[in-house]
Amino acid sequence: APHLKIDNLHVSIEDTEIIKDLSLEIKGGEIHAVMGPNGTGKSTLASALMGHPRYEVTQGSVTFNGKDLLEMEVDERAREGLFLAMQYPSEVSGVTNADFMRTAINAKRGEGNEVQLMKFIRQLDEKMKLLDMDESFSQRYLNEGFSGGEKKRNEILQLLMLEPKIAILDEIDSGLDIDALKIVAKGVNEMRNPEFGALIITHYQRLLNYIKPDKVHVMMQGRIVKSGGPELAERLEAEGYDWIKAELGIED
Ligand code: ADP
Ligand code: MG
Ligand code: MG
Repeated sequence: APHLKIDNLHVSIEDTEIIKDLSLEIKGGEIHAVMGPNGTGKSTLASALMGHPRYEVTQGSVTFNGKDLLEMEVDERAREGLFLAMQYPSEVSGVTNADFMRTAINAKRGEGNEVQLMKFIRQLDEKMKLLDMDESFSQRYLNEGFSGGEKKRNEILQLLMLEPKIAILDEIDSGLDIDALKIVAKGVNEMRNPEFGALIITHYQRLLNYIKPDKVHVMMQGRIVKSGGPELAERLEAEGYDWIKAELGIED
């Protein structure tokens, strides 16, 4: 089963330390949620894991199935089975959604092991139905004129098609109405199995009503300051973050 292990991670952007000593472990079959106020470094964590060049890891280690993730190029990370919702380009002219997805799948599978076209089309069809997406969607140019909700849905389609081992999903719920939110959650829940783990980053508890996390972590000032079960997310929804700040003596 897959295993992502983050140990004492420190990440800086332009010499400012954003992530400070963060440790987190995700195994196959587990869904973890990271919650926290704005500006605490949640997206920085996702970007660092994806290997964004602006984010400098100054201390700590990250292993993926025992291998050093930080030594891998971005495409190697994807080939190993790491998925980041944000790694996809915002708009690509002249490339249809279906082409893009087939290219991504084949890049992951490697040369000589490309997916059969008919099998690909069948799978794409099936997953699009699951996500309640219109057929025409696959032939539209990638993200061109997609609404916010369509983009999110498309990210989940990519998730279902690529079948990664570990997915980092940053704010997949932002800007979604309740119907779109339910569909996005349905897609993630469809992925649930012992060979898949996810880290769901969200500012709101709402998404976690539909994707039940096994563990909830609260991030503040670049650290995980509290971990618990789904009840922790519910308490945050009801009471906000002040009680944790008080507990920890954090001021902002
Ligand atoms: P969150 O996702 O929790 O809202 P971010 O990881 O986006 O937080 O941001 C954490 C901190 O890092 C913020 O203070 C933000 O201003 C800063 N930051 C994020 N990205 C950059 C960047 N590219 N350059 C400089 N500072 C950044
Ligand atoms: Mg440390
Ligand atoms: Mg963010």
